[in-house]
Amino acid sequence: MINVEEIRKDFPFLERKIGDRTIVYFDNAASTQKPIQVIRAMEEFMKNHYANVHRGLHTLSQEASKLYEEAHEVVAKFINAYSWREVVFVSNTTEALNTIAYGWGLWNISEGDEIVVTIMDHHSNMLPWRLIAQLKKARVKYIDITNNGYLKYEQLDELITEKTKIVAFPIASNVLGTINDAKRIAKRAHEVGAIVVADGAQSVPHITTNVRELDVDFLAFSGHKMLGPTGIGVLWGREDILEEMKPFKVGGDTIKEVTLDSIVWHDLPWRFEAGTPNIIEGIGLAEAVKYLSKIGMENIRKHEEELVKYTLKRFQEFEGIIEYYGPRNPADKTGVIAFNIKGLNHHTVGAALDLFGIAVRTGMHCAHPLHYRLGLKGTVRASYYLYNTFEEVDYFIESLEKIILLKDKFSQQIPSHVCTGT
Ligand code: PMP
Repeated sequence: MINVEEIRKDFPFLERKIGDRTIVYFDNAASTQKPIQVIRAMEEFMKNHYANVHRGLHTLSQEASKLYEEAHEVVAKFINAYSWREVVFVSNTTEALNTIAYGWGLWNISEGDEIVVTIMDHHSNMLPWRLIAQLKKARVKYIDITNNGYLKYEQLDELITEKTKIVAFPIASNVLGTINDAKRIAKRAHEVGAIVVADGAQSVPHITTNVRELDVDFLAFSGHKMLGPTGIGVLWGREDILEEMKPFKVGGDTIKEVTLDSIVWHDLPWRFEAGTPNIIEGIGLAEAVKYLSKIGMENIRKHEEELVKYTLKRFQEFEGIIEYYGPRNPADKTGVIAFNIKGLNHHTVGAALDLFGIAVRTGMHCAHPLHYRLGLKGTVRASYYLYNTFEEVDYFIESLEKIILLKDKFSQQIPSHVCTGT
């Protein structure tokens, strides 16, 4: 198991107070805090090595280019890619997914084709495909969920057909936490020759990722959800598919040669990193990946699973009062728990928890169709990471208990209409 007390010393943010209370940060599915190692690596790079990459022959540009390329290698190793050339740095998961939709989808999907996504997809892995379908007169089909938040795998054969060009799904749901069976979905999709797009935003930061084993064709994830800075994300793709794919954004650094009649695209991955990339953030992401690797992804996974197990056990004390969504078995989910308190609006609960110094997210978490499918207007989402403790979970439960006891007071004090968030 990991030494959480030691880990916490690396995160200056965790000393932050909200009012007179030390922060309890349970909003890790939205974004994570940064260890001092990442902060220092970015500072050191800016102080000593900063220049634009791939453009200059001077020492600094050479140094910056080398470090930036090495950052791709670090990420490639982390997900067990065949080569660092398969790793494209983009700004976030959303950009990675749009790059696939507009780089591959726009050029390969035609009228009458079908795209299969899931009802539990985040808007970032659903809306790009809906727009492409609209543009190309294709059809979008949705894999449904069971009452406990698992994908209905029995629908795979019926929904994925010879007409299917794309199958897109999240490896882990950002609301239910459900860890989906990527291999099973990829197997069926490949039987009909479809391309498999996996949204790894909620899985890569929390569970070991091995793209060779997953057998997907594309994987997207964000640096800011895995201890790295904002502004950097990853699009991993199979090299042969990336070689054939058109760049979505074009311009500086995407080409080898341009004449008025021809374009020779740059080698991978630079073809897809148009303009000056987020160099400093790339360095930060590599440091975050090194940090996670040092702790060990298996250990992080185990810790989160134990935190979830403990929380769900304590939730039993509120039978009929707290309702939570998604798998009951902690082994089947990441450290994400979406719930509601009977008779209290989700935003009211979130704002009340903030009074206790506890940061959670409330709303529909960019997954409106999933919430509508569950018949919900929103949920409160607590999401854990490697620096969270069992004591924090106890404090969270005690705070929920107080909120439940003083329900009427809280609903009067914090009416849901004053809260924002989707
Ligand atoms: N997919 C999933 C499953 C997510 O949880 C998120 C972030 N909430 C995204 C995509 C989008 O990530 P980003 O905002 O970093 O682009």
